[in-house]
Amino acid sequence: MKEMTEVQEEARRCVKCGNCLAQCPVYAETLEEPLAARGKMALVESLKEDDPEYTKRYYKILSQCLLCGTCAENCPNGVCGDEIIREARALLVEKKGLTLPKKAIFKYFLDTDRLMPLVLKAGASLQHLFLEKIPEESGLRLRFPMPFVDSKRFIPGLAPDAFLTYRSGWARAEKETMRVGLFVGCVSNYMFPRIAQAALDLFVRNGVSVYIPKEQKCCGLPAFGSGDDETPRSIARKNIEAFAEENLDQIIAHCASCAAMLKLDYPLLFGKDDPFRQKALAFAEKVSDATLFLPRVLPGPRNQEPGTGPLRVTYHDPCHLRRKLGIFKEPRDLLKCTPGLEFVEMKDANRCCGQGGSFNVANYDLSLKILDRKTKAIEESKADIVTTTCSGCMLQLMDGIHQAGLKKEVRHLVEMIDQATVL
Ligand code: SF4
Ligand code: SF4
Repeated sequence: MKEMTEVQEEARRCVKCGNCLAQCPVYAETLEEPLAARGKMALVESLKEDDPEYTKRYYKILSQCLLCGTCAENCPNGVCGDEIIREARALLVEKKGLTLPKKAIFKYFLDTDRLMPLVLKAGASLQHLFLEKIPEESGLRLRFPMPFVDSKRFIPGLAPDAFLTYRSGWARAEKETMRVGLFVGCVSNYMFPRIAQAALDLFVRNGVSVYIPKEQKCCGLPAFGSGDDETPRSIARKNIEAFAEENLDQIIAHCASCAAMLKLDYPLLFGKDDPFRQKALAFAEKVSDATLFLPRVLPGPRNQEPGTGPLRVTYHDPCHLRRKLGIFKEPRDLLKCTPGLEFVEMKDANRCCGQGGSFNVANYDLSLKILDRKTKAIEESKADIVTTTCSGCMLQLMDGIHQAGLKKEVRHLVEMIDQATVL
């Protein structure tokens, strides 16, 4: 973790030119200067550790950021607004600690071997008591008011069995050309096991043997984004060890946010003198997002002319994929050359959907306003299906589409490619 003086020095590089203002999704909805990167950089510059108002004044403003990286992308001075804001959150957490609900979720839920699987298994069995099916849709909504969950919210529901309870170890390809590890991620594990299954089937069918360690955990991003470095450091150690044994060529994550966390943030969690740092660097070197990996192993279009329908598909860029990992061409190319799909670009496909991890929980109404622009763009595209590769974006887009009453599906890109190329 960086020292306060270091973080403030980075914030001071902001010359307050306002170039990033118009692009900030939070500023666009609120028109409040303190909530744009320029305002937040000024706030970070003025942080004083001995200020008694330290928490109250800063916490709320710093929490109203999606960490989308749009300000950094548009900054002519190379100010990484999102990274500075996350570091400032970490400084706050170090000084004041986490809020109680976050502490309970991160430390006693994300970073445990048994509690999360047990609680979510029980939740899957009992969810019908708290949630009711939404007519004609494959989703649920609350029967009763609950803390932190808005009654309007679309909830996909938990799978009866988590993916990792019935699928782990090696799945060997017939003519093996490569050996990879599959990082499953929480949403895919507990809500949409079909995505992990699609990735597994697609890889094995195309000559890639897949190793799935049962001991793998959440990537740690929800805690990291909230400024908690300790929990993700502990989780990172366990994930790195889980993939260490099998001499893998690559480690593939199909969720863009997990991929960015494993590849970019794990090495940052270990200081220069930490003996684990080298392991984290070697692990990160092997990590790849599925959309970057797939073009290397897929044989190309078969059976049908690519890009000719009958399904019209559009694509939403997850911020973690486009701005953190720099991947935006590959997912589009994959969709364009997949038989049976007609790819259509939506307006502002790279604009943040408003999910932003805990931002969506703490600032739900603001998150919905940001999402509204995305939902309109999806509607205008006239696509039947909207694809993306981040599980957080998927949940957010499902919520937007449900609330707008649109008859459209949200699917993970890997699922689309798997289904279209199965013949
Ligand atoms: S990271 Fe995104 S939400 Fe946060 S200040 Fe920058 S542009 Fe705005
Ligand atoms: S963060 Fe960059 S673009 Fe935004 S006001 Fe500061 S210097 Fe200008």
